[in-house]
Amino acid sequence: MYRVSYLERLKSALIKLPSVGEKSAERIAFFLLSNRDTAEEIINALTDTLKNVMLCKNCHGFSEEEICEICKDELREKILCVVEKPEDVILLEKVLGRKWYYHVTGGVISPANNKTPENLYLKDIPERIKREKIIEVVLALPPTVEGDTTGYYIKNLIEQEGIEIKISRISRGIPRGSDLSFQDGQTLIDALTERKEL
Ligand SMILES: [Zn+2]
Repeated sequence: MYRVSYLERLKSALIKLPSVGEKSAERIAFFLLSNRDTAEEIINALTDTLKNVMLCKNCHGFSEEEICEICKDELREKILCVVEKPEDVILLEKVLGRKWYYHVTGGVISPANNKTPENLYLKDIPERIKREKIIEVVLALPPTVEGDTTGYYIKNLIEQEGIEIKISRISRGIPRGSDLSFQDGQTLIDALTERKEL
């Protein structure tokens, strides 16, 4: 049987991408081989991104330096918005503009998926509230059982430190079980504005 092993290898790598199945992997592989300039452009962009984009040491969002631009910005409202993924920060920043600070948890508590409080960025939240003089915490975690569990865990952590602070969570408009990234801008703004106290 006629097989080109390098091509097979490329296909098995591409198939690991989200929403890419057998057929699309093959199509992309053929495309890259016959459009070598585009292939080079992707290789360079990917290499540079992997080399230069890291997680901010303070908020754990994407950053090109140890501490990201948002954490360094002193002109924002002292509200800390807690989200699950680094990409949520990019999304909310696009919708809200230069408004709040963020904290990325890196996941929600789910022992079945090996996500325990110990391997998430939760413990540094109370510390940040004190150091950065935060006046409100807004939980924008996924509206799932795991998201709720994580929210209550964070609330407990904050209370254990004796910190008295308003803790709210995004409310209306985000259907249960869905991802922040599937919401349109206005739905997100409504959910963030009409937040409810936890
Ligand atoms: Zn940061």
